[in-house]
Parts: sequence; C-alpha cells; structure tokens
Amino acid sequence: MAKPNLFDYDRQGLRDLFASIGEKPYRADQVMKWMYHRHVTDFADMTDVGKALREKLSAEVEIVPPKTMFEKQSSDGTHKWLLGMDGSNAIEAVFIPETSRGTLCVSSQVGCGLNCQFCSTATQGFNRNLSTAEIIGQVWVAAKHLGNVPHHQRKLTNVVMMGMGEPLLNFDNVVRAMSVMRDDLGFGLANKRVTLSTAGLVPMIDKLSESSDVSLAVSLHAPNDELRTELVPLNKKYPIAELIASCQRYAARRPRTSITFEYTMLKDVNDKPEHARQLIKLMRKVPSKVNLIPFNPFTGTRFTRSDEPVIRAFQKILLDAGVLTMVRRTRGDDIDAACGQLKGQVLDRTRRQADFRRKLEQGQADAA
Ligand code: SAH
Repeated sequence: MAKPNLFDYDRQGLRDLFASIGEKPYRADQVMKWMYHRHVTDFADMTDVGKALREKLSAEVEIVPPKTMFEKQSSDGTHKWLLGMDGSNAIEAVFIPETSRGTLCVSSQVGCGLNCQFCSTATQGFNRNLSTAEIIGQVWVAAKHLGNVPHHQRKLTNVVMMGMGEPLLNFDNVVRAMSVMRDDLGFGLANKRVTLSTAGLVPMIDKLSESSDVSLAVSLHAPNDELRTELVPLNKKYPIAELIASCQRYAARRPRTSITFEYTMLKDVNDKPEHARQLIKLMRKVPSKVNLIPFNPFTGTRFTRSDEPVIRAFQKILLDAGVLTMVRRTRGDDIDAACGQLKGQVLDRTRRQADFRRKLEQGQADAA
C-alpha cells in the first residue's frame, strides 16, 4: 500500500496522523513549516526534528509533489506548468505576476464535465477529481520556483481556483487545500486572497458558505436564462434567479465582501448594450463586481472576441450605473495560458474529446 502523502492533509489532519503514530501535535506543525515555508520534502533535511522521528517518518509517510512535465514562460512573465498527476493525466497551473501581486491559477479536476461552450478545457472531456495533494502541490511547485517565503518574501500573494475543472464538484479536496493555502503554517494567504470560481452549483455555494471563508467568483457570462443555458449548460439545472439567491446568502454572511461575476466577452453573442442593461439589474441584487474577460480563442471554437471598443462601451454602461467593472487584461496568451485555454492532458472518460474532434474534422471538410 502507498504511504500517506503529507500534502493530502491540512493542519488538523496532519496532527491526527501524527497522533496515530504516537507523536505530539507540535511535531506535525514543525514538519508543515518545513514543507510550506522552506519547500523541503526530504525528512533528512528537517534539522530541528529529532533523528529518530525523521527515520520513523521516512519509513511510514512521504511528501510527494506533482511532477513537472513541462514548463514555459511567456514574454509577459506569465509562467505555466504542465504537471503530471498519474500515468496518463496532466493538468496546468499558471502564475501571473503583476506589480503589486502575484496570482496563481490552480486546477481542481483533470478536465471538466460541465461543457461550457466557450471553454477549451470542456473540449478535453473529464477524467477525475484531483486529490488534496495534487491541488496544494500546484501551489507548492510555483512557490518553490518563485522562492516564495510566507510573511517575508511573498511573491505568491493570491490563488484563484480558476484553472481546469469545477472546484465545487471536488468539494472536500478543494476546501482542504484552500485551508492549507490560508494556514500560517501553510502558505499564509489572507482569506480574501483565495478565490473559488464556480460555474454556479447552487447547493454547493451554500455548503461553501458554511464551511469556508474565501472569496467567491461566479462565472455568469450571460444576463438571461435563455442565453446562459446556451453558453453554460449547468444553467438549465440552476437558473440565474436561484444562482443570484445563493450569492445573496453567501454575501449575507460576509458583510464587507463582494462577489465577483465573470463575464467572457463573446462577439455578437453577449456583448450588446441590452445585455449590459440586463446585467445591471442582476448586479443590483447582490454586493458585486464584474470582471469582463475578453474571450481567448482556441482551435475549433465557433466564438470570437468582442472588439475592444465594444468591450469598453459595455464596461461604461455598467460603470455609469454604479456597477464596479474591470476588464481583465489578457495574460500569457502566447503560451496558451490565458483563461479558458488550459488543456493539460486528459484521458477522457466522457467521449467529449472524440466528439469535438469529429466536429472539428467535419467543419474542416465542410470548409474545404
Ligand atoms: N469551473 C469554474 C472554474 C474555471 S474558471 C468556473 O466556471 O468558474 C475559468 C474562467 O475562465 C471562467 O470564468 C470561465 O468561464 C472563463 N473562460 C473559460 N473559457 C474562456 C475563454 N476561452 N476565454 C476567456 N475566458 C474563458
């Protein structure tokens, strides 16, 4: 049987694990600091841990980060890792440096089952949920690469669960990993600097509201049910009114925070002034900000990016109505690391890859 991987545990879990091998809780805390503050995975290097305990730990447990299969840096400093998760699957994580902060975009699943029409991860199909170790391991790999030290040389200041997958469909592992991200013995990030983004799983938003205090982002992309169901099929199950109601409940428990609504700008699809006006009505119902994301194209997509002046005009309508609205700058697109471009390597179990390829070939044949 495989040894327990310490990346799979949060602080309490680690203390319980240490208790089960007859060790005191503070020993678990010491090991955690070595792992997350100094990026040490070899027990032999943990010099303030007694030799006997180091040997016992080496025999019984292990600390194994994901394997970097490939990494690439964009001309704008964005860094992308392809991380191997098992024999056939790999996911992507992306670090985006800015002047006053550094954001890591983290994946939660191998592929995704939700089939949002404008997302390239969707064309990959779905294989499985990532383990806690595979999620926190992405932050660990990036932090080590950056020489990040919590509270001192903090280069990694924010984490967004906006990589591959739907985080709320991998609830327990995501919540546990986010707890290590915010733990002082882990990466020590402030609650509001860890953001979970969801396509809108209403019951799970309520569950998150009760169990974890992180920032919430909702992938809205359309201001009415007809259009949203077309773009985000999950909307059929949880229509906009229910989604907004769950956001209201989330916000009610966190009086000083607002919810970010992501809105990918798709040319002639959701970028008309009337869409902006419908969006304003929704945004009045909940403390919110809007993040407009210029669509990032990928092979085979039927969508294109809204023109810059159209995006600015859309933003202005919202701003004039008092809705805080930002346009997300596209980063890392020269290395396919921008929003919605993450693909990894997915051993698809849903036939979606095959269907997508068939459609693509058909389209090319039709065009020829
Ligand atoms: N499943 C979660 C996490 C993925 S987040 C969610 O839906 O929120 C990835 C963000 O990028 C989402 O807001 C997603 O809708 C957006 N996105 C997906 N494909 C995109 C594309 N091609 N261009 C720009 N944004 C995209």
